[in-house]
Amino acid sequence: MTSQDALDQLAAAIRACRKCPLGRLRTHAVPGEGPVHAEIMFIGEAPGYYEDRQGRPFVGASGKLLEKLLADIGFTREDVYITNVVKCRPPANRDPLPSEIETCAPWLHRQIALIDPLLIITLGRFSMAQFFPPSARITRVHGQPLMQEDRIIIPMFHPAAALRNPNWMQAMEADFAQIPALLAAMRVKRAARDQDASPPQQLSLF
Ligand code: SF4
Repeated sequence: MTSQDALDQLAAAIRACRKCPLGRLRTHAVPGEGPVHAEIMFIGEAPGYYEDRQGRPFVGASGKLLEKLLADIGFTREDVYITNVVKCRPPANRDPLPSEIETCAPWLHRQIALIDPLLIITLGRFSMAQFFPPSARITRVHGQPLMQEDRIIIPMFHPAAALRNPNWMQAMEADFAQIPALLAAMRVKRAARDQDASPPQQLSLF
């Protein structure tokens, strides 16, 4: 089975999931979208109204901002993988409950394992909490890269929060501006890892 097949099967399993109460309330589950070998993975919080209707992540105003921020650094949304911590919309866009996040988290972890991105960018506090200690505050740590094994996690504000607050919008633009350099550094590091892992070349006798 190819990686794409595995990702498609995972998405189908998420669309059929009823493991938490949100599964009975949604219109569509929103597994996520993007290339299976994406170097950058964005993780938001949960689908909103439009995402629930369309079954796609970040299609409303937040999605438009995300696309603009990506364009500013030379990327399109087709270059990256976009998903959420919780795959089904909480009613009236309330915050996801800890039990819902815990039940849904294995889907996210399987997506990360399959896509194996160089950069994970968390959007908002619920996504950040998957990787940072509970004491971390987004207003303090946003834009500060965290090296984890062989990838970098960068916490950022959620686009919806940046749309509400001009200061956070400025911070988000500055945080996005770091992405190309961090990605270039991780490409070098990952290439070195892959070279170390490759079988030794047989020495020529001549
Ligand atoms: S939110 Fe996650 S765990 Fe709950 S039903 Fe949807 S996919 Fe399943």
